[in-house]
Amino acid sequence: MKRLVFTALAFAGLAAPLAQAQTAPAVTVYSSRIEQLIKPLFDRYTAETGVKINLLTDRGGSIAERLAAEGAGSPADILLTVDMGNLWSAAERGLLRKIDSPTLNNNVPPNFRDPGNQWWGLSRRERTIFFNPEKVKPAQLSTYEDLADPKWKGKLCLRTGKQTYTQSLVAMLIAKHGEARTEQIVRGWVSNLATDVFTNDASLLQAIGAGQCEVGIANTYYYGRLVSSNAGIKDKVHLFWANQGANEGGAHVNLSGGGVTRHAKNPAGAQKLLEWLSSEAAQNGYTHGTFESPVNPKVEPDAIIKAWGTSFKPSPLNAADIGSKQADAIRLLDRAGYR
Ligand code: FE
Repeated sequence: MKRLVFTALAFAGLAAPLAQAQTAPAVTVYSSRIEQLIKPLFDRYTAETGVKINLLTDRGGSIAERLAAEGAGSPADILLTVDMGNLWSAAERGLLRKIDSPTLNNNVPPNFRDPGNQWWGLSRRERTIFFNPEKVKPAQLSTYEDLADPKWKGKLCLRTGKQTYTQSLVAMLIAKHGEARTEQIVRGWVSNLATDVFTNDASLLQAIGAGQCEVGIANTYYYGRLVSSNAGIKDKVHLFWANQGANEGGAHVNLSGGGVTRHAKNPAGAQKLLEWLSSEAAQNGYTHGTFESPVNPKVEPDAIIKAWGTSFKPSPLNAADIGSKQADAIRLLDRAGYR
């Protein structure tokens, strides 16, 4: 009996260091990015490093709720989510930890990451103006604010105010103009609507193409997806970079991104994976299938994005400054009757 125990211990003692040398500890990722988009990239990371990745996907709000509910017992090492409001609120709720990574700070420009070093953007998602070229000339277009002018009455298509992208755009306007001016703008939009608000950007863009409305606001990657499956849409719907004039503040850029969780069991592995996702080696894989833009300025976007032009002026406002106005934006949208 005694001898048996001794043998087992000796075996365990021998096996442990070998196992450690062969396999680095796994990283568990909670992601609101759907599995089919992120899995091939993670498989590549595992092939290159031997680090296994456990992936759990759900919608942005749900995945953060799950992380919060699990608390210190959560297996998650990384939270990946979309929208600067979600990223900001994850940090605000104490779901993330501060990490010191010169690599992440080099790869991600300052306005696309948390000044408190808890999250970093990994892809850019521009939200700009689209128009029907048979009805509107680009010279008639200028800013998000201008779409509140009565000249657009009955011509504007917008996505629902219940959706986080609308909320972040309005949060940016609050950061820029304050609440009173922003409320005037939002009320102007509402009174210019051609039709009920849309539940998604793809049908909004198709409505512009069909002439149901003349102008609208959408994320560029939905346009990229439509163009990739039907190049003809390019003749019916054109992109206009909003707010490019000298004092107009630049186009709204939202983010997908992530951070290391507060209770990460493998924070070193999590940091390495985030650093890799922001690197030149991984940014193509992270953004090209989705028609988002790389957050790392050294990386070229997909050819479809390059075709509509990438030399525009983004808003220089910090993502955290916009994210922190999200709750105000939700109340304002409600007040202004934007459904
Ligand atoms: Fe989206």
